[in-house]
Amino acid sequence: IKRERGRAYCVFSEHLRQELAVRSYVIAHIDEAVENGYIEIYYQPVVRTLTGNLAGMEALARWHDPVYGFLRPNQFIPVLEEERLIDKLDRYVIRECGRQLRRQMDAHQPIVPISFNVSRMDFQLMDVLSEIESVVRENGLPRDCLRIEITETAMVQDRNRILEMIDRFRGNGYPVWLDDFGSGYSSLNVLKDYHFDELKIDMEFLRVFNDTSRKIITSVVMMAKAIGIHTLAEGVETREQVEFLRSIGCEKLQGYYYGRPMPYDELVAHCRERHLC
Ligand code: C2E
Ligand code: CA
Ligand code: CA
Ligand code: CA
Repeated sequence: IKRERGRAYCVFSEHLRQELAVRSYVIAHIDEAVENGYIEIYYQPVVRTLTGNLAGMEALARWHDPVYGFLRPNQFIPVLEEERLIDKLDRYVIRECGRQLRRQMDAHQPIVPISFNVSRMDFQLMDVLSEIESVVRENGLPRDCLRIEITETAMVQDRNRILEMIDRFRGNGYPVWLDDFGSGYSSLNVLKDYHFDELKIDMEFLRVFNDTSRKIITSVVMMAKAIGIHTLAEGVETREQVEFLRSIGCEKLQGYYYGRPMPYDELVAHCRERHLC
């Protein structure tokens, strides 16, 4: 038993050691990663349920590191948030989204709106609205082609500040989406107090696709409709899920069924192949 315990301890501490190593690596190299373009933005398609056409795309950060190889967002986003460095990444993401939209316009392609993720911490570290405004101005973009995703957990602290921010975004013409709806503890309160344009139903509800979860999703969609908020289901992976979501009137869908997050050029080819656009 002693030996077994020793081994378990070793495995555990090895894992922990690696995690700590990644952590300090991320902290020390975020500037370099942004400057040298190790961070790449992948885009995941969002489709309209009724037509199956592309409705937009979500920008998701990928870190291809020359030393560490591929780093997953869950290896660097939480670290950057805790260390109050997340604005370094998100400023870059917003700029990249702006450049991407400009390239679409220059190529005379129809503009596909991009949504990006804003962390609670971002509101303390940067003026998110002026960052977006300057990107829009510099690239000559129409305003509603950039959409802001804020997670439910962000609403727990800084209530008034975030409430005010959301109103300012919307007042300036930028749609705001509530991300990961249902994953936190304050879902209904959040809907009561804040004004969102769209609600993204957390993918956990589709992971267990049974009678109960279907009833929950149906109620969420009905409730959102009743209070005038659009709905998007995340994590759609099967045809069965698509048909169910269509039958209950969920307006937009996102998930591996339609495509994983991928570089923009790949997304364009993918959408052509799959007749999404
Ligand atoms: P999220 O905003 O909820 O993004 C959706 C996540 O679900 C993405 O993981 C996406 O790849 C994954 N996903 C999409 N469709 C499916 C599906 O059908 N099945 C399954 N199993 N998964 C699916 P990813 O890219 O690893 O991002 C994880 C989280 O990291 C994001 O969750 C978001 O909160 C955060 N994040 C990613 N990029 C950024 C960023 O640039 N800035 C900030 N602040 N956060 C980011
Ligand atoms: Ca999101
Ligand atoms: Ca989400
Ligand atoms: Ca999530």
